[in-house]
Amino acid sequence: MSQHRPVSMSTQPPTETGAPVAADPASVQAAIARAKFEWECTVDALPDLICLLDANGEIVRVNRVVERWHLGSLSNALGRDLHSLLHETCAAHPCALLRALTRGWSKLSSENPVEFELRDAPLGRALHVTLSRTRPTGSAPSEPLAVALVADVTALHLAREALKTVNLELEARVRLRTEALAEANRDLQNEIARREAAEEALRHSRNELATLSRQLINAQEMERKRIARELHDSVGQQLSAIKYSLEGLCAGHHGGDELQRTLQRSIGTLQLTMDELRGIAMDLRPPVLDDLGAVSAVEWFCREFAQSYPGLQLRARITIDDAEVPERLSTTVFRSLQELLNNVAKHARAREVTVALSRSAEQLQLIVTDDGVGLEATAGNATEAGSGRGVRNLRERAAMTGGTFALGAAPAGRGTEARLEWRLGSAEQSSRSDAA
Ligand SMILES: [Zn+2]
Repeated sequence: MSQHRPVSMSTQPPTETGAPVAADPASVQAAIARAKFEWECTVDALPDLICLLDANGEIVRVNRVVERWHLGSLSNALGRDLHSLLHETCAAHPCALLRALTRGWSKLSSENPVEFELRDAPLGRALHVTLSRTRPTGSAPSEPLAVALVADVTALHLAREALKTVNLELEARVRLRTEALAEANRDLQNEIARREAAEEALRHSRNELATLSRQLINAQEMERKRIARELHDSVGQQLSAIKYSLEGLCAGHHGGDELQRTLQRSIGTLQLTMDELRGIAMDLRPPVLDDLGAVSAVEWFCREFAQSYPGLQLRARITIDDAEVPERLSTTVFRSLQELLNNVAKHARAREVTVALSRSAEQLQLIVTDDGVGLEATAGNATEAGSGRGVRNLRERAAMTGGTFALGAAPAGRGTEARLEWRLGSAEQSSRSDAA
């Protein structure tokens, strides 16, 4: 520290050897000068600006930091107050540094030390100022009153600001990411809702389609039943009446062989027509299906089939009676058998066909097996013959009534096996024991 006037900073300046000070005034002076020099070097080497202030707040000593901070020379600093040293020409009104220094100085009487920190724009530095009183109030006014320590904390401030910026950036990124996630989540929720709605619509339309299909099949069955009854009751009765009249005419008429022969031929033709009509009505919907049940209808159809195709041997293994086929399944069982046997007759080129209709406690089973050309060969002409549609109908009818339809090679290795199975509900299961 350079000096304005000699002021000792320590009451007992150390000597080089630490030995008691000699009485020789010259060596005492030399020791004091050396101690002063060493102390000045130490204080000058510190990074902070250190000032010794008198009772008026004027600088009586200052270290060389004043030069490093480009605040002028050491001698120029002496006698000025801290504000005018730091702000050589202060244009700020009010000046934040001046205000902080004035307030700190006045607080020194009640508080020791006084500290404050501020960003000083004119200096371009952040300063941490510590004011420490060096002697009690009321001691000799010529003695220095306080030490001011001004530390440059710009780096710390910059670091803090950088940290704050990083934090803000991080927060902004977190916010953006959160928003993006929220948006993605919203999109996902929307997509889920959209898919659920689409699935619901699909389910709904499938149900509607199934209902329509079921209604169509029912309507078809009703219509068949109606036409069959009309043919039998109305047309059949009328034909019978005509035949009866012709027979009467034939019996009562004695002359004219030609006329007699013509009448006989007409009666014969009429009988054939009536038989054919009966066959058509039975094919449309055999009354036995409604009057007795599916098993009777199946047995009737097997008999008719055997008569229609004498070259194809039919074996019927029917181990149940009408009561054992639930009413909801009777039309399906009969129509399936009809479709399957007609398919065999048209496409299989089989010599033998077996019909097995049976049930266990919880399952009803219809199996039609032939020894024909097999699936691949029939599939070849299926599209032409329309049996592809027949198979689809079988599958649909089975699915609609809660059953399954499977078409595969016959166990014998030759021909085809068609298998229809329905699981029975608990109410339907008891009907077997009722029937037994
Ligand atoms: Zn100022």
